[in-house]
Amino acid sequence: MAADAVPIAARFSTFRRWPAARQQNRNCLVPCASFGSSCHDGDSLPQGAYFSTQQEFISSDRARQTQNGPRREGHQSIGEVTMASNVCVLGAGRMGSSIARTLLDRGYPTWVWNRTAAKCDPLAALGANVAPSVEDGIRAADVVIINVLDYAASDALLKRDCIASALAGKAVVQLTSGSPRLAREEARWVEAHGAGYLDGAIMATPDFIGKPETALLYSGSRDVYEKHKPLLFALGGGTSYVGELPGQASALDTALLTQMWGGLFGALQGMAVAEAEGLDLATFRSHLSAFKPVVDAALFDLVDRTNARRFAGDDATLASLGAHYSAFQHLLEACEDRGLDAAMPRAMDMIFRQALSLGRMEDDFASLAPLFRNGSSRQSGEPANA
Ligand code: NAP
Repeated sequence: MAADAVPIAARFSTFRRWPAARQQNRNCLVPCASFGSSCHDGDSLPQGAYFSTQQEFISSDRARQTQNGPRREGHQSIGEVTMASNVCVLGAGRMGSSIARTLLDRGYPTWVWNRTAAKCDPLAALGANVAPSVEDGIRAADVVIINVLDYAASDALLKRDCIASALAGKAVVQLTSGSPRLAREEARWVEAHGAGYLDGAIMATPDFIGKPETALLYSGSRDVYEKHKPLLFALGGGTSYVGELPGQASALDTALLTQMWGGLFGALQGMAVAEAEGLDLATFRSHLSAFKPVVDAALFDLVDRTNARRFAGDDATLASLGAHYSAFQHLLEACEDRGLDAAMPRAMDMIFRQALSLGRMEDDFASLAPLFRNGSSRQSGEPANA
C-alpha cells in the first residue's frame, strides 16, 4: 500500500455532491443528514449532498481512470481496488483552489470546503467532493490541508470542540501564511488532539503549484512529511523539509522574504533617485542585469562570512565598511538635494554609524550582522556581541 494510502474501511464514510443526473438513479446512497455531523458550518446541507458507499467511490474513480488514461500518482492498486489518500482542502481562494485542482489532476480524492461555497463549484466540476461543513471535510480525509487568509481565519475554522474531536489520527498540513510563533501554537493545539502537524510555506504564486521547480517549505512532524511525501511533492517538485521545530518553515519563509523586501524597497529608493536626476526607468532597468552578478556575489559572501563569524576585514573582503559608508553618503546627499524621502537611508545610516562608533571602519560589511541580533543594544548604545 502506498505510504499515503488508507484502508478501505476508512473510506466508507465519504460523501460527495452528486450531479443532478446521478441523483435520479442513485443506489446505496445515504442522505448526509444521517451522518451525524455535529457542527455543520451552514445550517443545512447543500442540495444534492449524499454519502456514497466505498463501492460507489471506487466505481467513479475507475471510470475517471479509464477516461483519463493511465493511473495517476494519487492511486495505488490493491488487487482489484484502487486506493489513495483522501485529502480535504479547507479554503478555495486563489491558492486553495490551485492546490485542490493540482491534487485532483494527480488523482487524489479531494474534498473541498470554502466559506463562500460558490468558489467550490469549479472544483466540483473537476471532480472534487464539496464538503457541507469543515467537520465533514475533516472526517472524510486522511490529510487536511488548510489554506485560508490568515491564522485568525484558520483558528475560527479549527478551534472548536467538534473539530478537535474529529482530528485524531489525521495529518494536518497548514499552508496558511503565518509567523513562527503561530506555527508553534498551532502545532501544540493540533498534536494535543491526536493529529500530526506539518507547517508549510508556499514560495510561489498559485499558477506555479504543481510544477517541478516550485518550492514549498515544511517543518514540524517528520513522520507526516515522510508518510505523505508523494502528495506534498505533487504540489511542488522543489519541496523541502526544513526541520522538526514547527516554526522553522515560517522562519525561513520570513527570512527569504525579508531579503526580497530589502531588494524591492532598495529598488524603490533607487528609482526615485534615478528619476529625480532625469534618468528614465528603462535605463535603470537595463543596467540591473549587468550589476546583478556583483550583487549576488556580495550577498552570498555576506551569508558565508556571517555564518563563519568572519567579521574582521581580510584579503577576501570585497569592500570595507568604511568604503561602503563613503559611497552611501552619496545616497543621503542625492535625497537631500532633490527633496526625496530619506526615511529608509536614514535608518541605514544609523546602523552604519553604530558599527563605525565601535571601530569597525576596516572590517567587512558582515560586521554589521551582530547589530541585527540584539535590538536592545542599539537603543541602549551598548556594543553588540560580535
Ligand atoms: P484569497 O484568494 O484572498 O483567498 C482567501 C481564502 O481565505 C478564501 O478561501 C477565503 O474565503 C478564506 N477566508 C478569509 N477569511 C476567512 C474567514 N474568516 N473564515 C473562513 N475563511 C476565510 O487568498 P490566497 O491568495 O488564496 O491566499 C491564501 C493563503 O495562501 C494566505 O495565507 C496567503 O498568504 C498564502 N499564500 C498565497 C500566495 C499567493 O500568491 N496567492 C503565495 C503564498 C502563500 P472566502 O472565499 O469565503 O472569502
